[in-house]
Amino acid sequence: MPEAKSTPSPNSFTLPSAESLFEHLADAAYLIDPASSKIIWGNRKAWESLGLSREDVLDHSVLSLQKDIHGLPQWSEIADAIRSTDCFRFIGRHRHQLGHEVVVEVNTTHFELDGGAYFLSVARDITNRVAQDNNAHDREKQLWFALNEASDGLWDWEVASGTLFFSPQLKCMLGYGPDEMEPVLETWSKNVHPDDAPQVMAVLQEHLQGKRSRYEAEYRLRNRNGHYIWVHDRGRVCEYGPDAQPARVVGMVRDISEHKQLELRLQEIAAYDPLTGLANRREGSNYLQAQFELCHRLDMPLGLAFIDIDHFKAVNDVCGHLTGDRVIKQVGDVLKNAVRGSDMVCRWGGEEFIVIAPNTPIEQMGLVAEKMRLAVLQALASQAPPVTISIGVAAATGHSLNLTALMADADSALYRAKDNGRNRVELSPAIAQDKSSKPEPCSIDLKPGLLPTP
Ligand code: GH3
Ligand code: MG
Ligand code: MG
Repeated sequence: MPEAKSTPSPNSFTLPSAESLFEHLADAAYLIDPASSKIIWGNRKAWESLGLSREDVLDHSVLSLQKDIHGLPQWSEIADAIRSTDCFRFIGRHRHQLGHEVVVEVNTTHFELDGGAYFLSVARDITNRVAQDNNAHDREKQLWFALNEASDGLWDWEVASGTLFFSPQLKCMLGYGPDEMEPVLETWSKNVHPDDAPQVMAVLQEHLQGKRSRYEAEYRLRNRNGHYIWVHDRGRVCEYGPDAQPARVVGMVRDISEHKQLELRLQEIAAYDPLTGLANRREGSNYLQAQFELCHRLDMPLGLAFIDIDHFKAVNDVCGHLTGDRVIKQVGDVLKNAVRGSDMVCRWGGEEFIVIAPNTPIEQMGLVAEKMRLAVLQALASQAPPVTISIGVAAATGHSLNLTALMADADSALYRAKDNGRNRVELSPAIAQDKSSKPEPCSIDLKPGLLPTP
């Protein structure tokens, strides 16, 4: 084992020469002639840090080494400043032999010795520190931009305390000033639209429980005016506590109101009939399918009515297509007003409508149909030619499995209504699971005298 070198005891200690101490200094040291800025002497670090030899460094001056000092007039100003203080500090750039620059922090003192004046500069390489500072500064600028200028708003939630930081941009998005909005979770949660809140909270909860990799939701958020804006909100747990529970969640909010309005408008165009404002055939089909499945699952009856305007060609022929359009719209309005809010009236095509009535057995659907027929009669029979409707009614029981059969039944009931003289309601028996036991069709008993002659 090599013997460890021991430090000499204070009694036997001889001070090493100043020159050999300087050789071990971690910083570069230069002795400088104040008048010319010439290097008179340099320690090991002085020439090594510049890629020079011990002799070469003596061919240099502050003017040739420092990139930021140009010419003797500038040097003499600096020399005056050095003389006027105990220690003059300067951040500059040294030229390295290989061409790159070394950022240095230079501390210079002045002194006189044996009648001569000298400057002693100790230069520390701070290139790495400056690079780190620049990085941090850049990150600070990016953060500032993200908080204040980027169109997205930022939030930062400390789960345990319930503190919720809102960025100035997020406040601005909601119409608040930078010093408004109390930084607590409730400020956010109480402004989420009540219809959206359960879904939003469930998604957030699932993320906190680790069931989702991140929290992401589109919902309506109330702004300062009490109006709702549509936002896209996403976030993620970024810190966990010692108990492995989420401690901090950070996220971003984007205002998507314009995009959402366009989306809703497109959905409306795709789902609604422009003439009557009723659901169109596509929307009606989807709704019928969904309600059929729901009623089947819950073992509830589903009422369905097929409606066709009688002798509509004659309306067009006698009064023209514009009047025909107006009549279609009027019939749609009358039908809509005659049914419950939970029933859907849909323009199936041309002068045909369907009504979908969840949880409605055949008898009740027959009464709804009769109410519609009478309402149209009352509103439009005085027209010339008079406007009446024929209705075929069917209902699926909770056990019916076939939507096509339900529609075919309503359709054939409508045909019977036409065959039996129009301006009437015909019922199809409820579809039983066992089609062989299907009872005979029946029709609603119409009050005589109400019918105009077709
Ligand atoms: P029926 O009692 O047997 O139903 O007789 P109908 O004359 O109503 O016969 P049908 O149902 O076959 O004819 C429907 C007519 O409705 C044919 C078509 O020109 C007209 N029609 C369909 N869509 C529109 C529309 O949007 N506007 C107008 N004005 N007419 C339409
Ligand atoms: Mg028709
Ligand atoms: Mg018709």
